[in-house]
Amino acid sequence: MKINSISANFSVKSYGQNKLTPKKVTVPMPCDSVSFTGKNDNPKKVIILLGAPNSGKGTYARQISENLGIPQISTGNILRKEVKDGTDLGLQAKSYMESGGLVPDELIMQIFKKRISEKDCANGFVLDGFPRTLNQARQLDNILSEDKNTVTQIVNLDVEKSILYYRSAARYTCEDCSRTYSIKENYNPETAKCDCGGRLVKRADDTPEVLSKRLENYDKQTKPLIDYYGDRVSNITVQSKDTPAGEIIDTIMDKIG
Ligand SMILES: [Zn+2]
Repeated sequence: MKINSISANFSVKSYGQNKLTPKKVTVPMPCDSVSFTGKNDNPKKVIILLGAPNSGKGTYARQISENLGIPQISTGNILRKEVKDGTDLGLQAKSYMESGGLVPDELIMQIFKKRISEKDCANGFVLDGFPRTLNQARQLDNILSEDKNTVTQIVNLDVEKSILYYRSAARYTCEDCSRTYSIKENYNPETAKCDCGGRLVKRADDTPEVLSKRLENYDKQTKPLIDYYGDRVSNITVQSKDTPAGEIIDTIMDKIG
């Protein structure tokens, strides 16, 4: 049996497109344009990975992070950490997550702002899975403009749809640590184990139906960001499932390096 680790990251579902929003939250609309006055002598590298579910955003964001020595920030992970640490923001987020609702943008932005003020973000950071709506992108611009920074580069992973379904079908998740693995043949529940020892199982929401819904949402909500960011976007096209990941990361580094 061949097991390839593909990603240790996945986004928190409760922050996605759940229809059971418990209460209506008013998110202040940021101004549409951000103006820069003065210049920043030490601008941060702010890189965003855009791409449909299963396009490999998390994996490539991690490699960019390692190559450039700047942290990878996933809102799913920072949300989970705040919740785990029991911070004020975490407790607020938890109440939305537990009631099956989505965590409002306003709260996500506060958690995000706190994270990027940490020391390791001094030279920049890589974002995956965020922003995922135009509203979030505008709020991100506002936050960055406070320190005269801006999004510097966007990598758009344009992966053939059949590959996204193929990856979903092959994916198994560790029951204990949520790490994901790609198992292409001969799945055996007795022997399929995570490095941590946990059992590898199929997540209940990892089905073609759920993926098709997520792809629809992606096209509607996130794709418009490609136009929003305009000429800062580098398109990386993946048309074959056999294209080695190493080749893709090389292309990405060529474009953003
Ligand atoms: Zn595990």
